[in-house]
Amino acid sequence: MSELIESHADLASLSKEERLARMRHSAAHVLAEAMVELMPGAELGIGPPIDTGFYYDFRLPRPLTNEDLAWLEERMRQSIAGHHPFQMASITKAEAAEHWKDQPFKLDLLSELDEGNVTQCTHAHFTDLCRGGHVNDTGDIPQSFKLMSIAGAYWRGSEKNPQLQRVYGALFETAEDLAAYEEHLEEARRRDHRRIGRELELFELVDEIGPGHVVWLPAGATIRRELSRWIEDLEIEQGYLHVHTPNVAKRELYVRSGHWDHYQDAMYPIMERDGEEYVLRPMNCPSHIMVYEAAQHSYRELPIRIAELGDMHRWEKSGELTGMSRVRIMTLNDAHIFCADTDQVALEVENVLRLMEHVYGVLGLKNYSYRLSLGDPDDHEKYVDNPPMWAKGEDLLRRVLTRVGLPFTEAKGEAAFYGPKIDVQFETAAGKDETLVTVQVDFHLPNQFGLEYIGEDGARHQPIIVHRGVISTLERMVALLIEEYEGNFPLWLAPTQAVVIPIADRHVAYAEEVAAELRARRLRVTVDSRNERMQAKIRDHQLKKIPYMLVVGDREAEANAAALRVRGGENLGAIPVADILARLVTERDTRALVP
Ligand SMILES: [Zn+2]
Ligand SMILES: [Zn+2]
Repeated sequence: MSELIESHADLASLSKEERLARMRHSAAHVLAEAMVELMPGAELGIGPPIDTGFYYDFRLPRPLTNEDLAWLEERMRQSIAGHHPFQMASITKAEAAEHWKDQPFKLDLLSELDEGNVTQCTHAHFTDLCRGGHVNDTGDIPQSFKLMSIAGAYWRGSEKNPQLQRVYGALFETAEDLAAYEEHLEEARRRDHRRIGRELELFELVDEIGPGHVVWLPAGATIRRELSRWIEDLEIEQGYLHVHTPNVAKRELYVRSGHWDHYQDAMYPIMERDGEEYVLRPMNCPSHIMVYEAAQHSYRELPIRIAELGDMHRWEKSGELTGMSRVRIMTLNDAHIFCADTDQVALEVENVLRLMEHVYGVLGLKNYSYRLSLGDPDDHEKYVDNPPMWAKGEDLLRRVLTRVGLPFTEAKGEAAFYGPKIDVQFETAAGKDETLVTVQVDFHLPNQFGLEYIGEDGARHQPIIVHRGVISTLERMVALLIEEYEGNFPLWLAPTQAVVIPIADRHVAYAEEVAAELRARRLRVTVDSRNERMQAKIRDHQLKKIPYMLVVGDREAEANAAALRVRGGENLGAIPVADILARLVTERDTRALVP
């Protein structure tokens, strides 16, 4: 016998969050109701509310189509219009097992529940196993929802289990909220670095090479090279010493640094040869410590700034790999600054923050903020247990941030295992908050490795290490820049900076001459002598987001000029080649942003 449970909810008295959660949860029931009508044999998984709506997982006799989605959505609208009450009932577990005997996933869920009664929810003619949390009747669900997509999902998220079809719905309280969400999705799609990367032929992820292993195509490799050269030049101006250290090292090195203990799950597996164990390095720190250790140091040499665009290898879970922003092999703009004391640390961290501000300013980045990431004194599992060391490091970073005048937030439990850090947080096009780079103060690794320098007093002292990035990994930075610029790179980064387009075949020779002149000033230029109509050529290069097009015909050849077209469509008319050259070189060398 089932026992009815009264549970009238006063929706208006709930917080907006709680109300939306109930609406979304209830909408998932209505979706399942419609699905069972569409496919009577449908096997039901789970259907929870999520941040933007709801989903429901089903095992179905055939793949869903977009027509199915439209049909389901229409049925849901009808059910909502029907004002069917949601009625909770309590039954024994045995009764429930009998009720769900043809539904393997529900039986699986039941098997995990304690003995005793379970609750079910019925609306219209549809019943689901459910703990509750609904609106009162289907009429309380707003019509401002939409079935968005179909995706594959494993039962309980495990690849060992059957694969189900997941239907996603977006649901908001008002039509305006839903429209704003759709607009946000559209903008994220428009800026998505994966799509733009494909269209502009910047990079590829090739199955034969492996997931998360980025192949930089010529255009993308050009952007990467420009960024690398620029940051290395800036570092040289700041007294950094560049090194090059191996990608493979003995496992022992990372046991000593502590990475093996804290990090091995995120590392590629061990390679064994001649009785030695080797690993692909997950971080550059120990390698740079070896550079420091290669010689004896006096206080006069400190700070020593060791820098490298170093490759790192991290076994990210396949579900987390995302285009170029989450990959398994990456090149980090990394440096380790070996300081004599905390005064030096403070000064060096300050210089790093100023370098960051300069770099992000030139790149035109705006959506970032600083976060002081602290340890957690209660978590000895995650963090090195040394309270005075933590307090010293945290206090120091806080003071530097304040002195440089950068606004920042503080976050407990976000530090590295060996010390506090300053994180630069960016918002991606998809609206996700991600850490781009960090600056860390480290008293721990110098201790682990027994590092020392000879002080003014002639005695041995332990240096302090500042770990820092500025450009982040080249992969993540380029992904971010693609989204920031929507593929319209400023001239200095644009893979192809100009195209010369001859009007007729007889102008090809002159076009080649103009191109050669530009190339002599290290401008990246091509000649488009294809047998295509002029308008088609112009459109192609606009789609490729080439900053400049130089159109040349009889008049231009005679005047040693070219008709200059700017990305975006403006035609500036015939301009002497020497002036065009001067304009492009200035724009490139000042790293001007696209207006
Ligand atoms: Zn429910
Ligand atoms: Zn490091």
